[in-house]
Amino acid sequence: MTTVKLDNPIFAISARADELRAEGRDIIVLAAGEPDAPTPSNIVDAARRAIDDPELHHYGEASGLTALRQVVARDVFAKTGTTWSASDVLVTLGTKHALHLALGSVAHDGGEVLIAHPGWPGHRGAAIAAGATPVDVGVDADHNFLVTVDSLERSWTPRSRAVILASPANPTGSVYSREALSAIATWALTRDVWLIVDDIYDAFVYEGTHASMLEAAPEARERTISVNGVSKAYAMTGWRVGWLLGPPDIVSTATRHVSRTITHVPLITQIAALEAISSDPSDLAQTARRYRARRDRTVEALRAIVGVDCPLPDGGMYVFPSVRELLAENRSGITTSAELASWLLEEVGVAVVPGEAFGAPGRLRMCFAVGDVALTAALGRLTTALTAV
Ligand code: PMP
Repeated sequence: MTTVKLDNPIFAISARADELRAEGRDIIVLAAGEPDAPTPSNIVDAARRAIDDPELHHYGEASGLTALRQVVARDVFAKTGTTWSASDVLVTLGTKHALHLALGSVAHDGGEVLIAHPGWPGHRGAAIAAGATPVDVGVDADHNFLVTVDSLERSWTPRSRAVILASPANPTGSVYSREALSAIATWALTRDVWLIVDDIYDAFVYEGTHASMLEAAPEARERTISVNGVSKAYAMTGWRVGWLLGPPDIVSTATRHVSRTITHVPLITQIAALEAISSDPSDLAQTARRYRARRDRTVEALRAIVGVDCPLPDGGMYVFPSVRELLAENRSGITTSAELASWLLEEVGVAVVPGEAFGAPGRLRMCFAVGDVALTAALGRLTTALTAV
């Protein structure tokens, strides 16, 4: 059997962790970009009922089930105070698909898309797949890894078409304030650049509340495309449901593309997403509280290790510590974060993602959205191993 080599180092680490597990090794995975919990049972049950409904065994609308688009529009209103209807929403095969469709609508002819660097490689990949040209916008730890008007202006060219802003961001956990979003929107309007806002981690903001571009800069509504999905908030990464919300022209272009390619997102998974978004919001708030406690525990444990500098992320599911000082000591011949991550996986049994995967050598990304028992064991192993390395 031949396997396709994907240009996604994060999946490669998970695949190696699976191989080691298959050999009987005890591996704790903090490398995945997903919660390790199963999808909540009310959602799974709704999908089971949907399978038995013959109405859902046939073609549906390209834009997605009206009921799902309505709850998305209502949810966006609840979060941002801005009014939307079902016709402003397109259901997609996950947020990555929504990003691809958004970029295909505004930059398919090689137009430049400004993307935070270090950042999630999926943004870059979605841009390339859409025929756009990704351009790095340098962000650094001293500025909390946030894109600023100055950094955007430095990366801007007359070919710039869009900027992608994820808040909270992956892998850095940075969260944009309302003021920062408003300043970026003002800049984007001046420079005639689209704002593509990726709010996939919006349920997981631990300091203050999540600020949305839609709310922070209503004057930029005609230049803003918002993407989101159920993957992270409801532990539904495998179900593949997301959405795009934006101005009518963009939604029409993207819907035509969906109709010509995938026809529509499977109806069974749309029903599952409908159930997810309609769930009691206190369930999600409880998940966020649990993640916050895990974040705190993880940061505390890592900060106690000499040579590890771990910023406290304001949101998201990851910590992104620097191990540069540890590597500089070169105590066991390990000199890069890629080598360190490989050693942690092979010898210590903890899978983490090296910063190289995000354009940030010298750092490691660890997902804390894992069960308490696994997290405790992983932090114990990391403390012992990194203290001795
Ligand atoms: N945006 C960001 C910032 C992400 O980190 C991820 C997943 N790692 C996605 C989008 C993809 O989400 P989905 O599963 O909905 O395609």
